[in-house]
Amino acid sequence: MVTKQQKLDDIQQQILDDNVCPELAAQATHLVFGAGNPESDIGFIGEAPGKNEDLQGKPFVGAAGKFLDEMLGMIKLKREDVYITNIVKYRPPNNLDPLPEEKKAFLRYLQSQLEAIQPKVVVTLGRHATNCFLPDLQISIIHGQPKRIRLSLKEKKGDTLQVVILPLFHPAAALYNGSMRQILIDDFARIPAIIQKINVTS
Ligand code: URA
Repeated sequence: MVTKQQKLDDIQQQILDDNVCPELAAQATHLVFGAGNPESDIGFIGEAPGKNEDLQGKPFVGAAGKFLDEMLGMIKLKREDVYITNIVKYRPPNNLDPLPEEKKAFLRYLQSQLEAIQPKVVVTLGRHATNCFLPDLQISIIHGQPKRIRLSLKEKKGDTLQVVILPLFHPAAALYNGSMRQILIDDFARIPAIIQKINVTS
């Protein structure tokens, strides 16, 4: 049987074989594919790697990542208990916002990652990740509100994967903004109850 990790390794290799976003790849130190536990019920999706992530090849290892670890600790989780990735897998130069075509180019690989992991809850960090799944909604209005969606599966045509998207503010945006920081912490604290509810109803 193919394990979730093997499926993820194949998707990572596919990104290289497909030469996705060659301009970004040329400037990057590493492809930052994702890290954590592929068996987890919770996936986190950020925007794109920054400088530290590019250097280390892992998502969320800078200041925003430290804050994310603190919030995980508040709900008694460690980074090894969840799976963390980004939409765009190479660092945009000068930490620019990822371009629409870059997000579009990586979306199918992100979907394949979710299809491999099959998390129950996908926490989208910030507007870029949120709008990949909930294109018409504004993070400032819907943050902290779980939304049930269906993703079409590539492996089994016609089948869908039901996931709950939980849109949260991006930890980098909230880090130095007192009111946003508190909202993010409060929204984050709801994750265990949301998972428990899914486990009861599914
Ligand atoms: N911000 C992101 O969106 N992703 C990272 O991996 C780091 C910072």
